[in-house]
Amino acid sequence: MRIKSELNKKVRILAVGGNAMTRNFIYTFLALILLFSCSTHSSSTEENKREQKIKMSSTVLKIIPTNPSYVPGKKQQENANFFLTKLYKDKQIDFITTDTIKFIDQGENFNSVSCNLCGRNIEIEKWQNAMDEAYQKHFTNLEFVTPCCHRKTSLNDLTYHSAAGFSKFTMTITDPQDEIKEKDLIELRQIVGTPLKIIWAHY
Ligand SMILES: [Zn+2]
Repeated sequence: MRIKSELNKKVRILAVGGNAMTRNFIYTFLALILLFSCSTHSSSTEENKREQKIKMSSTVLKIIPTNPSYVPGKKQQENANFFLTKLYKDKQIDFITTDTIKFIDQGENFNSVSCNLCGRNIEIEKWQNAMDEAYQKHFTNLEFVTPCCHRKTSLNDLTYHSAAGFSKFTMTITDPQDEIKEKDLIELRQIVGTPLKIIWAHY
């Protein structure tokens, strides 16, 4: 530790040639300084850690097409970006397009998954297994037979609490102050030319 070695050096310099009483006084004095500097140092580190944690956690509003393979054209994306920039001034807006379909997660907002056909809860393990299998094929086949009512549905159509989805194209707004209004969502839907889904992610 840098402070300690510097202090030790000071102790050595000051101790040379001093009498016993002065030496004791200097040692006590320096020990107190050392203790004080260590305690303030550790508490400020804790504060930094807390600050970092606060800064690191964020809420992301993700807007995706309900059709996982839909990617809007360049002009549509430009218009959508212009529209969102007006709605969310000074916010970080990102448009992400991937070659393959991705699971667009809700981060810490993930709670459970239920059947979109009968409403019953789906065991996470069963859902996870189906996800792993679909992932192997880059989510090109999202077919899912429900364990509850034994009917065919899609991993994309299941009810996620909170909402999640699948897409190649995602518009994200980091730490938006406001939710997106229904009328704005309708307008955005018209701009990108496809029905949209809202995902609130927390990290
Ligand atoms: Zn069911």
